[in-house]
Amino acid sequence: VFWLEKAVTVAENEKQAKALKLLIEYYKTGDLKIWDDYNIVWATSTEGDIDYINGFIEVYNDPKAFRGSYETIVQIKDFDMSKKMAVVSKNAQWFEDNSTIDNNYKKKNVVGVSYKTVNVASEAGDASPSTPIGVNLPNNNWIRQQHGSKSVSLGNLIEAYNQAGGTDKLKEFAFDEAEVNAEIKYGHLADKLHTALHEVIGHASGKINPGVGQPKETLKNYSSTLEEARADLVGLYYLPDEKLVEMKLSPNAAGIGKAAYDGYIRNGLITQLIRLNLGDDIEEAHMRNRQLVASWVFEKGKKDNVIEKVVKNNKTYFVIRDYAKLRTLFGDLLREIQRIKSEGDFEAGKALVETYGVKVDQAIHKEVLERNSKFKSAPYSGFVNPVLVAEKDDAGNITAIKVTQPTNFAAQMLDYAKRYTTLPDTN
Ligand SMILES: [Zn+2]
Repeated sequence: VFWLEKAVTVAENEKQAKALKLLIEYYKTGDLKIWDDYNIVWATSTEGDIDYINGFIEVYNDPKAFRGSYETIVQIKDFDMSKKMAVVSKNAQWFEDNSTIDNNYKKKNVVGVSYKTVNVASEAGDASPSTPIGVNLPNNNWIRQQHGSKSVSLGNLIEAYNQAGGTDKLKEFAFDEAEVNAEIKYGHLADKLHTALHEVIGHASGKINPGVGQPKETLKNYSSTLEEARADLVGLYYLPDEKLVEMKLSPNAAGIGKAAYDGYIRNGLITQLIRLNLGDDIEEAHMRNRQLVASWVFEKGKKDNVIEKVVKNNKTYFVIRDYAKLRTLFGDLLREIQRIKSEGDFEAGKALVETYGVKVDQAIHKEVLERNSKFKSAPYSGFVNPVLVAEKDDAGNITAIKVTQPTNFAAQMLDYAKRYTTLPDTN
């Protein structure tokens, strides 16, 4: 409460201050009515650059699912990603008009979906040291329905997870040095752009024919896989486009395109299999979608050798030989999946998913697991908080905040214990 009261004095706007005050009042009284009021103000307080979660929120640790564990996260808007999303969103109609989908299924006035990425500044309680990578709160359904909710992905943590283990895995599964170098140079940005296009344009694009139901009704259990595939394909189709360079989103159309296409095919046909046990089918919607897209373009491009299956030193690789034709194939599949969604064509959707997205090539799967077995990565990761140090001028005004990075988790915990403990060492 001491620190929350300090936070009230530097709140970015009135609503943020109001939420913090309600939270303080809740902590002082334990009144659940005030907790509800707090959640409503918090959920609708969306203007600031800084946001947080704080409270006894998730019940995962209680077998009876009643008692919430304390957790808190302080996060800062990802300004770079927000800017990219805004540019993409502003040009949403251009993407819709130039898409490969049938003109009858295009929206005349498309509006980009809003999606938020933030960077975590600090975490405590149940959110630390092992952390979520996204937050979607509040949990109360009636508040969500009547007042809305907030959904963010924790960008710097996701990036840290992706970088863990360095480039050894990449070198194992990438075909040659050119593929490794493209990934190192453009892979990270290509991923970010793909996410922006997938979320802002992909899920917003296209319309359903009059009289046809929502995909959940028409495409049933195949709807999520097909929807994720559709959104991925919108991104894949545009990633190598010069228009992104013109919009100052992409530094190099061919470079971004190569990194994105190599990475997508490598993941869809090879590396995502690491997550499955030998003999299992793919069940998860995003994984089904990635294999569906990758193996469909592989098969359709066979006669033109668009993607070649190469075995080198007993290791299998899928090597892209024609990037331009691959882009056309992505566009073709996008057109077909949009048709399936717009018309509610269950049989065609089912055939696509069952043929390309579910069954795993057993020989390749076995090989991939063996190649991966030399990388020992722990199933869970923990994070050390950065330490924010205020720099002051002679008058004592804060002029800058320096972010420093401790390297030792145990030392950080001992330091916290020394500075913040509220309990005596002996009773
Ligand atoms: Zn999606």
